[in-house]
Amino acid sequence: MKRRDLLKAAGGFLAMRELAAQAKVERATRGLAVPRIKDISVIATAPQGLRLVVVKITTDQDGLYGYGCATFTQRADLVVPAVEKYLKPFLLGRATDRIDDIWHACYDSSYWRNGPVLNNAIAGVDMALWDIKGRQAGMPVYELLGGKCREAADCYTHAAGAEIPETIANARRIIEQGFRHVRVQVGVPGMAGYGASRGNAAVAALHDGPVFEPAAYMRRALQLFEASRTELGEEIELLHDVHERLHPIQAVRFAKDVEKFRLFFLEDVLAPEDIDYFRLIRKQCATQLAMGELFTHPLEWTPLISERLIDFIRIHPSMVGGLTPARKVAALGEAFNVRTAWHGPGDLSPIGSMCNITLDVACHNFGIQEYSAFHERTQEVFQGCPVMKNGYWYPNDAAGWGIEVDEKAAAKYPFGSFEESERKRLNGGWGEIRRRDGTVIKQ
Ligand code: MG
Repeated sequence: MKRRDLLKAAGGFLAMRELAAQAKVERATRGLAVPRIKDISVIATAPQGLRLVVVKITTDQDGLYGYGCATFTQRADLVVPAVEKYLKPFLLGRATDRIDDIWHACYDSSYWRNGPVLNNAIAGVDMALWDIKGRQAGMPVYELLGGKCREAADCYTHAAGAEIPETIANARRIIEQGFRHVRVQVGVPGMAGYGASRGNAAVAALHDGPVFEPAAYMRRALQLFEASRTELGEEIELLHDVHERLHPIQAVRFAKDVEKFRLFFLEDVLAPEDIDYFRLIRKQCATQLAMGELFTHPLEWTPLISERLIDFIRIHPSMVGGLTPARKVAALGEAFNVRTAWHGPGDLSPIGSMCNITLDVACHNFGIQEYSAFHERTQEVFQGCPVMKNGYWYPNDAAGWGIEVDEKAAAKYPFGSFEESERKRLNGGWGEIRRRDGTVIKQ
């Protein structure tokens, strides 16, 4: 029966059902049948020493599969069974086309939720489904999100040194490569400062482990910013990561003290547990603030964005469950003029980097992207890594993420490869840092 005749005869619901069934048959005969999940596997590899976890979803259609990043490097071994023992049996046989629906089903399937292990497991599935949809469409994922807002992602990368002149020299090298934004960090003599070496000095302490004192760090960082502005000029954009090393009231004062250096952003000046203090900082200075790489729960980022307490949301997409929730965070940010600055460390697979760059080019309220170069062994495992040129990171234009994983190459670099003995003893986890008196601190 023809469409017009059907609508006339039944005049409504039954006809619509018939038409839907016809459309399904038409899609199947045109080769557009909805794929179903046939297998889910996990690729665990450490080509650069850092532990990477990637989820692969294989469908029942020949040659159609996808990859997602599920990297939680400090607890990587726990993400693998979260995928294999829980999400895999939950998802086998499902149609791959309803990504948002699958995300919510997975999210609810553990009842207790919002932790980094479970969020990463879901993210691996979520990104793999976006990859599959892109491959089906013959389009990169950014096209599925509405297409590009910009040609490429403007990036910053890291300049560090045990001493200030070393940091400045490294910053100059980065600027010569074409970067316009540089994160500067300097070591504190004898102390385990974040992002830079401590040098050869030693600090007297009541224990034998790494030592950190926030007051010494703040003095040193302010000297670095002063020298950076003098040596590197006014045009270069400077960034800095406190890495939650301060007491909240120190953070308030530090944010005020750095205002005159006009940082592009000051990152993680508070720990997630202390985010109410952002209201105090906001009342006292106009230092541009970035926050969020440790966030895993919507109630962490929602008030900071909706009250305009930060300028850049710095979530790590796999830590919140993948592309699906991250693009909603970006949309929330756009409503309040909070820009994105997705976390882009070395312990992120190239699939995760492509997720970041996809959001960077497809979301209007993009701010900046953190760039970490891919090691040559990483490029051996992940073929088709996105290209960096003059400080701009270009997304792949191939379908999906545009990346293929060489599983044989991945198997050559199991967890523990190239790890120093202490990290191996901790199974890829972090150690501890303490104040002089032995108090453990966040790091
Ligand atoms: Mg950081």
